[in-house]
Amino acid sequence: MSPPEQSILPPAVPVSSVRGVGEERAKLLARLNIFTVEDLLLHQPRRYEDRRKFRAIRELTLNEPATVRGTIIAAGVKRFRKGARAMFECVFDDGSARLHCRWWQAQPWMEDWYTIGREFLVFGKPDSLKPRNIDHPETELVEPGEDEFIHVNRIVPVHPLTEGLTARVMRTLIWRALEQFEYSIAEPTWSRGQAAGGQAQGEKDEALLTEKTRASNRHPATWPARANAIRMVHFPAELTDVEIARQRLALDEFVALQLQIQLRRKKFEASAKALPCGGDNHLMKPFLAKLGFTLTTAQTSVLREIRADLGGTHPMRRLLQGDVGSGKTAVAACSALMALESGFTVALMAPTEILAEQHFRNFSKWFEPLGIRVQLQTGSRKETSLPVAGCKEPVGNGNSQRTGIPSTLTIGTHALFTANFDLPKLGLVIIDEQHKFGVAQRETLVRKGNYPHLLVMTATPIPRTLGLTLYGDLDVSVIDEMPGGRGSIKTFVRAAEKLPKVFEFIREKIAAGRQAYIVYPRVEVADTDKDIKAVTKEFENVQRALAPFKIGLLHGRIKPADKEKVMAGFRLNKIQALVATTLIEVGVDVPNATVMLIENAEHFGLAQLHQLRGRIGRGTHESYCILISDALHEEAQSRLKILAETNDGFKIAEADLKLRGPGELLGREQSGLPNLRFGNLAEDLNLIRHARELVKLQLDFGRTGVS
Ligand code: ADP
Ligand code: MG
Repeated sequence: MSPPEQSILPPAVPVSSVRGVGEERAKLLARLNIFTVEDLLLHQPRRYEDRRKFRAIRELTLNEPATVRGTIIAAGVKRFRKGARAMFECVFDDGSARLHCRWWQAQPWMEDWYTIGREFLVFGKPDSLKPRNIDHPETELVEPGEDEFIHVNRIVPVHPLTEGLTARVMRTLIWRALEQFEYSIAEPTWSRGQAAGGQAQGEKDEALLTEKTRASNRHPATWPARANAIRMVHFPAELTDVEIARQRLALDEFVALQLQIQLRRKKFEASAKALPCGGDNHLMKPFLAKLGFTLTTAQTSVLREIRADLGGTHPMRRLLQGDVGSGKTAVAACSALMALESGFTVALMAPTEILAEQHFRNFSKWFEPLGIRVQLQTGSRKETSLPVAGCKEPVGNGNSQRTGIPSTLTIGTHALFTANFDLPKLGLVIIDEQHKFGVAQRETLVRKGNYPHLLVMTATPIPRTLGLTLYGDLDVSVIDEMPGGRGSIKTFVRAAEKLPKVFEFIREKIAAGRQAYIVYPRVEVADTDKDIKAVTKEFENVQRALAPFKIGLLHGRIKPADKEKVMAGFRLNKIQALVATTLIEVGVDVPNATVMLIENAEHFGLAQLHQLRGRIGRGTHESYCILISDALHEEAQSRLKILAETNDGFKIAEADLKLRGPGELLGREQSGLPNLRFGNLAEDLNLIRHARELVKLQLDFGRTGVS
């Protein structure tokens, strides 16, 4: 999902319209992806310099970046040894003291540029004060001229540049673009025609941020007009203006995004009629009676929401969020039963074959006695559960209807939407571990049927910002309670030298009847990074360390049938420890496993570590998660500490989002992240909320979604 085009200068004006941009400069600007005046105006500074008052060279302090203004009194190339690389050095003087500047690789143009008598602005970090020295500073020639007021005596922007285009030229061009076009910069608009899904036929454009809404915002400052904001981004009167302007422009982006989301939802609701899947409890009752546990209050209340959706007028679009181990599978099963009771078929999709197999086994066990056919369709396997009587059913093409079998649940992986799989009467699609799939994939599967209901489940808690954008067109249910009777999980961070002790500990736990996971980042050791451990290499070491217990090996390159054998062995405790990659990250449920050892823990994201940890703590015994890391840098240590301190997946996900950004948090597979210039999905919760409210007001759109 990318925000709709938000032209600020309709129609697009080529950058060559700016005074001073000829063919040559247009080419240079194109290298920075600047083709239009709009692109130029939206080219954000990478930093600012306060040139209202320069630092005297004498007052430079060590390691603190500063700008000074000085005249060159000496310059030249230096070579330390014959044949060695040449260094360029020049000395600036501002009347207070002298400053040496060095470039370790002299360029041919330097001698002609840095000539004695020329005056420069010099920006950099002093690495010595005796003599005062800055290596590789950024410099800008002071040329007295008509434009001088653009470059000094104010806070000036320094933009991303390309070779041949100096900071000064870029600044001048943007200044001129503002002078020429500032008054044509439009406020964002929309038209009611868009809401009907068609072109804006004869519809008048309406401002999205009216004077009234602009003044009514809950932020400290009243929003500047867009044109003002753009000027402020480049030429702020005070440094604090930059953030105000950024927020205003980010708000525009979020408003455009919300408009897109809410219009899509409106259109969807207008066009799609819901299949009646509310159910009548005739399967649910016997199912719950034999389940072996009572649903938690949270599970029950989520199911109430789902039942209302399934019996409602619009197809369900619901995101079920529940921390690892909160019992989403049981909710999925009950939801499936509602649709099955109503005479529809159901598809359940999982991101890995291991998880699909696990679901296949559980659902077969649960559903067969109810007379429901369960079938599995993965890349490597296609299977149908044994029918009630126990005689083997020939594997059909997915369409074979055996009399007496009311309905079918199909479980699969990505193969579900790649294969020419076709399900008649598809009423409900359930996607497990949704964050492992892309938005586009979700849409493909839903399109398979006639607007089936959709339930997507995730254990990666979606931080609210993403909930309101990426998942903005979904309703959200949360399971905020864990089933009772679980042992707690203790988490430790240890250095690799402690491994012998750790293995001793694991051996004790196994001897006491428990099981363990041992996770490494890699399948094989890479030549480039020998320090990162790999399962294939460590497997033997672990076998030796834990002998005579039986150890299993699992990674992505093992054949599916063999994977399944290992998992079966582990489930039955014929295998006491699993050496694995993150393949086991999602879904795997073996309550007797109580130890999770993760080596090179710094190589995993926080949300991922939390998922891995979610494999333990599923039974009544105490569980232990041990993170091994020798990473000394502070960032890695503080990240791992977060994990040791909290078991709250939501807090962990928010921290991960801030540390690593949405792309990393959601996984590489996740497509559809909006492309934002000014907005920040990790930080701008209030802005996103505000945008959502504004758009709601505009669309007069009663229905509530996420909030
Ligand atoms: P997740 O939400 O991570 O998918 P699962 O659905 O795998 O969690 O459930 C984790 C474990 O908790 C399973 O062994 C499941 O049988 C069990 N469980 C689920 N709901 C309850 C409940 N209400 N009471 C007791 N145990 C439950
Ligand atoms: Mg699960």
